[in-house]
Amino acid sequence: MKITDHIKKANGETLFSFEIVPPVKGKSIQELYNNIDPLMEFKPPFIDVTTSREEYVYKEKGGLLEKKMTRTRPGTLGICASLKHKYDVDTVPHVLCGGFTKEETEYLLVDCQYLEIENVMALRGDARKEEKYFTPTKGGHRYATELVEQIQNINQGNYLHDTIESSGLGSFCIGVAGYPEKHMEAPSLQSDLKRLKQKVELGADYVVTQMFFDNQKFFDFVGAAREMGIDIPIIPGIKPIAVKRHLQLLPHVFSIDLPQDLIDAVEACQDNKAVRQVGVEWAIQQSKELREAGVPVLHYYSMGKSDNVKAIAKELF
Ligand code: FAD
Repeated sequence: MKITDHIKKANGETLFSFEIVPPVKGKSIQELYNNIDPLMEFKPPFIDVTTSREEYVYKEKGGLLEKKMTRTRPGTLGICASLKHKYDVDTVPHVLCGGFTKEETEYLLVDCQYLEIENVMALRGDARKEEKYFTPTKGGHRYATELVEQIQNINQGNYLHDTIESSGLGSFCIGVAGYPEKHMEAPSLQSDLKRLKQKVELGADYVVTQMFFDNQKFFDFVGAAREMGIDIPIIPGIKPIAVKRHLQLLPHVFSIDLPQDLIDAVEACQDNKAVRQVGVEWAIQQSKELREAGVPVLHYYSMGKSDNVKAIAKELF
């Protein structure tokens, strides 16, 4: 079922969902199942599965350091198919511009159609670790807008080199990213929102936000988006802080601010067990307020570990 239909069916009730990251190449999928199993009692209508761009990895060979390009966490679509089958849940593969030609994206989307995966999250992807700026793949897309356009074309039967009349395959419900604290490369929140509006005009059906720790930033973002005429569902993404290192890492990687109260509480912790508890409590408070405000879904970044997301879900669902 499409995410937008899940939201309509919920009739104002806030739904629970989460995002997982594929295991490192060669590792068993069992650990992922072990982490998903405890979350299924909260009946997520959908689970997102991230995609990683290829990165350079270094291997020592004959005393020399070899540089190779590889995707260290492949398998997004396989995991989506596997979870759909195992848990009877909708799965949302993240589809990236970076690392894929338009043809490869088309083949991926055709596979999704055969697997009856009806939702995809259309994203540009980040710059590689070694790059300062995102460089598009040769033959691939530069911005998520172009990817949304390609998916919408497929929805209308327009494949890259063929037009197929009434294919009988379902159309995709398209999710896109939104940034309550603006995307790191955007000159202002207003210009970033204009880009978001373009994604919506081209056919995006719902927005999932980057993590944020101050709900006011989300409320202001939604207010500004609505004022601009963006009227599709906006789903907040929530990340429970889990280790002390997140205090430096999250603002740096995601270009977000952490409230001083949260920083103080984490800094006062003696160990990461205590940090996890602070992270859970903060996320519970955030989630309660967001649900009160009527958000359609509370979407958690689990990073493949479920104990903290379970502790939050237990309080809310
Ligand atoms: P875009 O919408 O293309 O925007 C990128 C930047 O370009 C923005 O600053 C925007 O303002 C600007 N822009 C857009 N269009 C134009 C234009 N025409 N001209 C000039 N500027 C423009 N990354 C992954 O690698 N894998 C994942 O699985 C993944 N999942 C994510 C899930 C969520 C919910 C979110 C919020 C992010 C996720 N990301 C993921 C990160 C995402 O790929 C990065 O944030 C990336 O840098 C931007 O992606 P986007 O789709 O928002 O890009």
